[in-house]
Amino acid sequence: MKKRFTTALFLILNITLFAQISLRELTCEHFKNPIGFDVKKPRFSWKLLSMERNIMQSAYQIRVATSNLFDKKTMVWDSDKVASDESILQEYKGSELKSATRYYWQVRIWDNKKREMAWSETAFFETAFLNMSDWKAAWIDPEKEIDKDKSQPSPLLRKEFNVAKKVASARLYATSLGLNEIHINGQRVSDYYFTPGWTNYDKRLQYFTFDVTNQVQSGKNAIAATLGDGWYRGFLGWATRRNTYGERLALLAQLVITFTDGTQQIVATDDTWKANNNGPIRMSDIYNGETYDARMENSNWMFSGFDDKTWWQAKTVNTSFNILTAATVLPVKKQEEIKAIKIIKTPKGETVIDLGQNMTGWVKLKVRGKAGDKITLNHFEVLDKFGNVYLNNMRQAKTEINYTLKGGAEETYEPHFTFMGFRYVKVTGFEPSLESITGVVIHSEMAQTGDFTCSDKLLNQLQSNIKWGQKGNFLDVPTDCPQRDERMGWTGDAQAFARTAAYNRDVAAFFTKWLADVSAEQKPDGSIPFVVPDVITKSTPETFGSLAKYPTSAGWADVVTIAPWTMYQAYGDRRLLENQYPSMKTYVDHITKKAGDSYQWKGGSIFGDWLFYKAAPHQQEGDGHTPNDFIATAFYAHSAQLVAQSAAVLGKKEDAIFYNNLFEKIKTAFQNEYLTKSGRLAPESQTAYVLALNFNLIPKELIIKASAHLAEDVKEHWFHLTTGFLGTPYLCQVLSDNGYTETGYKLLLQDNYPSWLYPVKMGATTIWERWDGIKPDSTFQDEGMNSFNHYAYGAIGDWMYRVVAGIELGKPAYKHILIQPHPHDSLKTLTFAKATLNSPHGLIESGWEKTTKGMKIT
Ligand code: BGC
Repeated sequence: MKKRFTTALFLILNITLFAQISLRELTCEHFKNPIGFDVKKPRFSWKLLSMERNIMQSAYQIRVATSNLFDKKTMVWDSDKVASDESILQEYKGSELKSATRYYWQVRIWDNKKREMAWSETAFFETAFLNMSDWKAAWIDPEKEIDKDKSQPSPLLRKEFNVAKKVASARLYATSLGLNEIHINGQRVSDYYFTPGWTNYDKRLQYFTFDVTNQVQSGKNAIAATLGDGWYRGFLGWATRRNTYGERLALLAQLVITFTDGTQQIVATDDTWKANNNGPIRMSDIYNGETYDARMENSNWMFSGFDDKTWWQAKTVNTSFNILTAATVLPVKKQEEIKAIKIIKTPKGETVIDLGQNMTGWVKLKVRGKAGDKITLNHFEVLDKFGNVYLNNMRQAKTEINYTLKGGAEETYEPHFTFMGFRYVKVTGFEPSLESITGVVIHSEMAQTGDFTCSDKLLNQLQSNIKWGQKGNFLDVPTDCPQRDERMGWTGDAQAFARTAAYNRDVAAFFTKWLADVSAEQKPDGSIPFVVPDVITKSTPETFGSLAKYPTSAGWADVVTIAPWTMYQAYGDRRLLENQYPSMKTYVDHITKKAGDSYQWKGGSIFGDWLFYKAAPHQQEGDGHTPNDFIATAFYAHSAQLVAQSAAVLGKKEDAIFYNNLFEKIKTAFQNEYLTKSGRLAPESQTAYVLALNFNLIPKELIIKASAHLAEDVKEHWFHLTTGFLGTPYLCQVLSDNGYTETGYKLLLQDNYPSWLYPVKMGATTIWERWDGIKPDSTFQDEGMNSFNHYAYGAIGDWMYRVVAGIELGKPAYKHILIQPHPHDSLKTLTFAKATLNSPHGLIESGWEKTTKGMKIT
């Protein structure tokens, strides 16, 4: 790694800093006390905490038991003392794990002064079904006639059962075609939403395990499920198209009750379950919202004793069990609530509630009125120039809630199977108070790991916008945006933002799940689709126009190499890299076939440097433009190099040599085509220099010249960027890597269009899709593509952690760190900056501040 530091600070620390050592944050496969795993060899991690300096681990011991860790009889593994300083992801090597079993584990360590430490607290993990034969339940379909072209009322399913003995524990294993919400005796089985998540349901369907010990009671019980269209058969893709995976919903559920005497009772879906479609959810759809008639509520159906004579019997259906996989995923949950800050009467006379923050989720509605009164809520992101409601950038997504009151006391309502991206809510049908509407923020439950603050308000707001971009778009899959008729796993956006995401939050498990989807969606020829799960090529060219006929696009498809490598760096998860390796390699081989002897990937880029600053409304030539073929060959080289580096980590020596040679060949071809002897690139855009320098495509002797050309270009644009999705993530990094940290700062602190701070100055509370979503004259960019919550440009975030505050990775998972703050030269605009990162090896802090004498590292 070549770096020039503006400060003379270069510390390599082993960050196991603090003794008496206590062991904290025990995790198994990145989760704290997970239940419902089908991982055969789970891995254990712990963090060391000590108040002494220079304390390190020299050995560890792990023991695992089915009940008592001190009883040899229940012990399934004792690692004995292992001489090792590794404290993350140490693999279970005991006897074969059993299905549906809880295992307890503990670890103790010896430090570098040979002191033996106490055993840690006890943690646990629990297996799900490890064999298909564990499934006793049948898939059941609750619906009769349906109109497959329209959103249908949410079907209801119920079953009563009797419990005669004393319950020791109960687990529900469940999944569905479509979304599910399950209750036992009227209580929701968990606080998870959008189960079973989004995968390519033809190939991979997650089932979840819920601990329902407290819900099951002795005597009479009832289990009740409501299903929603969701991604399975709801509207999906920007065309008004539905039924992506199938036309009919189905449920698979198996409740396993274990009694104190060790015996078990199983209540499983079969054709004795009763079904109906007379529930209050008259329609629900990811894009379009929900229609709810509270007059049709009858919560008795969730309890035993309800008269379901008029309900029909569910049909068993033949759906494959082979696609089932236990969900090893960060569940989507309600994360916070946002109070409304203002009620606005627009010039057109509409009533609008302002939440003050662009967010993803829904609103909790509190209202009082007569039975049959109707309320409509329209969710949107921005007011127009005149202060009126602006819905056009939602495209065909209705994002509308229609609620019919049951009347009487105050009613509280939250939708079930839809989410919206919005800051404002237009209210029709009643006069709201600030208390009537509360924002409910939902996203995958990623622990917050990082924080960045500094003396500059706008920059702090930028960091807040980046974080909200992540919260708004990490909903089981990394989406491009949460509001319009898209919300898909766009691969280019995800690769651009992955590194920043891993500073802000713990996204190890999130990407582990989604990268399995990436591999599952790889086409037989090795190409990687634009979106994962792949909705586009699953459709017909008529619905997606010309896009459906292209197999792959440079900078998008490269998520297959970039994201696993980035995650490996951030979390040190070698198994993830190993699992992804075949797809990484197959992808590069696919490009090699296309490129042939030229080692250039002509025609490989469909989206180019998407939305570079002159791209209005869509891609076009112009200042700052980078030709697509240049981009394709640059990414081809980068992916080849990442495969070589991954092969080296995984001990695949021959592959490492092969892909390194390939990289060299591509590099030579690239230089012959695009580089002059004076270090100038044929396309003289910022993105061109950024990609070439960042992907090691410039020969050593020309690096100084090429980076000077880049810095010159930035200066010629009066310190404005001209980059799009592909150049932006590395722009400041390349500048600071090559001695132009000040230029990077000038870009970062620029607040005129195009820059990161321009949207902030215009009042943005999230990252915009375009540099000028709202133009200086307050008019909008092209309504066909103008999201105000797109995280891609938030990829500047990692530079703020790494360079501004100075937390840089030394070895994977921050086993070694570089503390390397790069203060702003003049110290005028920025007088302090600091960051924290709770890394897999512990907490890291770095920062600096201006003092009367100069500068202090904090
Ligand atoms: C999406 C993106 C995506 C792009 C690809 C857009 O419609 O919102 O963020 O990467 O298409 O061209």
